[in-house]
Amino acid sequence: MNNADFLIRHWQQVQADITSVRQQTAASQPVQLIAVSKTFPVNDIATLYQSGQRDFGENYIQEFSEKTSLLADLDIVWHMIGHIQSNKSRIVAERAQWVHTIDREKIAWRLHEQRPEHLTPLNVCIEVNIAAEANKHGISTDSAELLALATTISTLPRLKLRGLMCVAKANSTEIELRQQFNQMKTLLQQLREGGFEVDVLSMGMSADLNTAIACGATHVRVGSAIFGQRSYAEN
Ligand SMILES: *Cc1c(COP(=O)(O)O)cnc(C)c1O
Repeated sequence: MNNADFLIRHWQQVQADITSVRQQTAASQPVQLIAVSKTFPVNDIATLYQSGQRDFGENYIQEFSEKTSLLADLDIVWHMIGHIQSNKSRIVAERAQWVHTIDREKIAWRLHEQRPEHLTPLNVCIEVNIAAEANKHGISTDSAELLALATTISTLPRLKLRGLMCVAKANSTEIELRQQFNQMKTLLQQLREGGFEVDVLSMGMSADLNTAIACGATHVRVGSAIFGQRSYAEN
């Protein structure tokens, strides 16, 4: 099997998994598959693009910058899913359609200021550190903090608040996963009750996408189940 066949087969398998978990769990929400291509070459992205995949996720600004330049001719929907240092936000504001990792006012302000006028508002999600892990980014699950950040974002017309994102704690049991994802759903509901028109739960990766979808995920971010194992460590 050559690399293109490998990729397309795995990509089709992930789509079949998404369909079957939606049927089994009666999850009624649409689910968008974001192919997380970090560390993999632009050829792999082009292969999946030819097959019909449009949404791709990247974590690292340098890599995002290179890949978006090389693939500028393709109408890819780019999702920034990694932490953004504020001195590196400009390229993201200019080239991404989505940022999943807003965790402080400062980064929201900068992305707003740097988002070019001729583009539609940048879709953003607030990242929640759902299991309160010391080594993870994201705001706490405190609803006052969440509502405050959402309020700030909603005053910035170059940004469009879409919902919430999390990375579940590694090696969680099925029960722990459900607790985390259900809490995300509750937080999204609290935002709605606070008057925010939000509809996105960005949660679920290769290891836990079925559970995430069963708990209401609308966007799953899948890397290794499509592209294979990554050969270098990530943050
Ligand atoms: C790497 C990464 C993913 C994809 O992880 P896989 O386990 O390879 O599916 C999803 N979301 C974020 C934030 C990531 O950093």
